[in-house]
Amino acid sequence: MPSIFTRIIAGEIPSYKIAEDANFFAFLDINPNAKGHTLVVPKKEINKLFDLDSQTYIELMQFSRRVAIALEKSILCKRIGMSVIGLEVPHVHVHLIPLNDMKDAAFESKVSLTSDEFIAIAEKIKANFI
Ligand code: AMP
Repeated sequence: MPSIFTRIIAGEIPSYKIAEDANFFAFLDINPNAKGHTLVVPKKEINKLFDLDSQTYIELMQFSRRVAIALEKSILCKRIGMSVIGLEVPHVHVHLIPLNDMKDAAFESKVSLTSDEFIAIAEKIKANFI
């Protein structure tokens, strides 16, 4: 069965999309640690980060960097943090999280946003994505 992220990439499940190219897809995390929390996913459905072939791994990091630079221009924060967990969704994804505090990196306290707020954040990041 395809992962929820494969279904998002295919457009079967809606998402607040930030950016896409032939191999990668970035969208807002639906249960964010902080405003602007973004996921970057390779279209190739592989469970674990270090099982990616080295080219896909490097390109995932390069694409994530572009998204992180756009995020940092869009969201007021001290820096963008990056983590890879994957305990919930077995399809590689990089979490890019605007950090102001250690708790923003902890996956414990979450922020709740309206659909309009998600749309506005996604539009802002999208406009800064190069
Ligand atoms: P993990 O696999 O532990 O790295 O966590 C999966 C992440 O995916 C969590 O932060 C979820 O909030 C996020 N997530 C799960 N389903 C969706 C979805 N439909 N749209 C956006 N983010 C999602």
